[in-house]
Amino acid sequence: MFIYNDKYKSNKEGYYYSCPWIEHGIVFFPQKISFCCHCGHSGGGHTLVRNNFSGQKIDWVRFNKIKHMFRNFHKKGKINSACIDCPFLEYKKWDEGDYIENLYISHWTYCNSKCIYCYERQNPDEFSLNTNYKVLPYIKEMHESGMLRAGGMIYFGGGEPTILDEFENIVTYLLDNFYWGIRVHSSGIKYSPAMARAIEEIRGYMIISVDAGSPEVYKRIKQVDCYDKVRDNIRKYALKTNYKGRYLVSGKYIIIPGVNDNKEEIEKWIQANYESGVWTTALDVEESWYHENRNNIPEYIYDLIKYAKKRSDKLNTNFEMYERLENMIEDEYKKTGRRIVKIKPVE
Ligand code: SF4
Ligand code: SF4
Repeated sequence: MFIYNDKYKSNKEGYYYSCPWIEHGIVFFPQKISFCCHCGHSGGGHTLVRNNFSGQKIDWVRFNKIKHMFRNFHKKGKINSACIDCPFLEYKKWDEGDYIENLYISHWTYCNSKCIYCYERQNPDEFSLNTNYKVLPYIKEMHESGMLRAGGMIYFGGGEPTILDEFENIVTYLLDNFYWGIRVHSSGIKYSPAMARAIEEIRGYMIISVDAGSPEVYKRIKQVDCYDKVRDNIRKYALKTNYKGRYLVSGKYIIIPGVNDNKEEIEKWIQANYESGVWTTALDVEESWYHENRNNIPEYIYDLIKYAKKRSDKLNTNFEMYERLENMIEDEYKKTGRRIVKIKPVE
């Protein structure tokens, strides 16, 4: 549905509100194809292209026509309702070419971890209900027709990508055909030789959320006994980095209040990353806790963020915060004028 909204009207010839996903994106979800996977804003996102999708033939002419329809409405100030208030909307002259450069594969069918904070734990039937269709044939089709271009973002997420049957083949195909910017969120339990190659060739990012600095806390959070294996795999990926690509392997820690919310655990995690040769320290906070406590964040959470940042600076690693923490820090700044941490730009 497209709704006229004064704040999105266009006054300049050729200029309109759009985003990299409307223009050149596709997301393969279980059961649907979308233009994007963003959903944190009031419009709701997940801009739908086709529902009830489980691997059928895609009519690319129709697909491109839908993108044209979006552009035409947006030029008139009529915005797709799912896009209202999306931070990715940008007012500029877009190139309007019929090509894809942003790709997201969000399968939600399998995982080898059982994280206590996972959406899947609250919806235990989700994985088994989803159809695991193959995405590689579509990637080949888009590549062979010239529709897929390098230079954008290629993401894998939802469940554990590395255990998908076609994961190694997809990444190898993308690498063999000169794509880059392959970003994978992984449990780290399974080592991926294709991603090791992507890291070595400075074309892939591996983000591994360990959330713990000790096997005991790891097991409590992940409900699997794989701490040593994950640490080993992180070390193996980090060994593939060189000075230029030293930030490509990221150690992530989701602060889960009541479980791993103390400096001792964070310190052990930072040390273990450092000893493995990981140059990126990424921090987040557990999602449902964040939504419940957003307006009343306890001071000790800010202290943990400051601590992780201070230790990261001391070890000269790149410090990253996920969107929820950034919002938290921004909210605090607006409320009190206090800036909890400052982030230095990534080199
Ligand atoms: S919801 Fe946001 S990211 Fe998704 S298509 Fe709309 S503007 Fe783009
Ligand atoms: S690794 Fe991700 S998908 Fe798997 S259980 Fe943990 S949060 Fe869920």
